[in-house]
Amino acid sequence: MKNQELFDVVIIGGSYAGLSAALALGRAIRPVLVLDSGQPCNHQTPHSHNFLTQDGSTPAAITALAKAQVLAYPTVQYLSEAAVAVAGENDQFAVTTAAGSIVKARKLLFATGIRDLMPAIPGFAESWGISVIHCPYCHGYEYRGQPTGILLNGDPAVELGRLIRNWTDELTIFTNGKSSIQPAHRQQLAASHIAVEEAPVQQLAHRDGYLTHVVLADGRQRPLTALYARPPFEQHCALPRALGCVHTEAGYVEVDGFQKTSVAGIYAAGDATSMMRAVSWAVTAGTMAGVFLNKELLGIA
Ligand SMILES: Cc1cc2nc3c(=O)[nH]c(=O)nc-3n(C[C@H](O)[C@H](O)[C@H](O)COP(=O)(O)OP(=O)(O)OC[C@H]3O[C@@H](n4cnc5c(N)ncnc54)[C@H](O)[C@@H]3O)c2cc1C
Repeated sequence: MKNQELFDVVIIGGSYAGLSAALALGRAIRPVLVLDSGQPCNHQTPHSHNFLTQDGSTPAAITALAKAQVLAYPTVQYLSEAAVAVAGENDQFAVTTAAGSIVKARKLLFATGIRDLMPAIPGFAESWGISVIHCPYCHGYEYRGQPTGILLNGDPAVELGRLIRNWTDELTIFTNGKSSIQPAHRQQLAASHIAVEEAPVQQLAHRDGYLTHVVLADGRQRPLTALYARPPFEQHCALPRALGCVHTEAGYVEVDGFQKTSVAGIYAAGDATSMMRAVSWAVTAGTMAGVFLNKELLGIA
């Protein structure tokens, strides 16, 4: 990287969303720098599914191929470093990296993802992305027909239960304490043969992240090979908030239909901005950001 070089765009976060934006911008012959701290949210998952041409590949293999293709464009540079501070404003941003370099950019893209916050249930964190899963389209097929749980309460549990019933008829909702599911919904669940278990979950027993059974607080054990869960999350990177980007009530960086944030010259894409959480959605949003960043740089956005 040449000293004092001014990049059209510095992309912070070089996973699926960031690399997709870099691909569009590299093909638009834009000088861009990708900064990445190497901690994508799906790193523990053994196989990624439901992304065309890469179904069943490891997350690392998808990223490695993406990186090789993106870095073939001579105007794209990549640094394995975190961005730790941003100063300046539209058309003259200065990004400080963890190693203390300062890089200048006309525009910024945050593709920094989210960080899942693991509940204090022994076995949960170890099994996250392996057999404790967030999405049936990503991992449900591998656990079809098997004893499956949902760790949720109230209306969201009912909605997810009706969806997951498509993959298995051995389904239990673990409300992890008193159920807040409405009586009418309880009847619907019973009619669909979906059990509801209110005893608190004490432990998820597993072998190398593959669940074997759940241990309840009253000592009972129930066989379980997959558990759907929606743990709370925080933004992986605090810089968009520090820069004044408006966030939604749910905690996502707010963007418009072109991936623009509320701050001039700053875009965001991928998991950081959307509850639609899949590689394909991140790639779509990254491509969109790349295309509209290029239009903004041309003054035709
Ligand atoms: C356990 C699990 C399993 C999943 N399985 C599937 C699946 O099978 N199929 C599927 O389609 N989807 C799956 N997903 C969803 C998919 O992984 C995400 O939607 C996707 O990774 C989002 O891409 P992203 O680029 O927005 O964020 P991420 O992939 O999370 O990448 C964000 C990147 O930004 C970097 N970063 C953060 N802060 C900084 C900073 N300050 N400076 C520099 N870099 C920074 C991080 O290190 C990381 O590399 C899974 C998700 C999880 C959590």
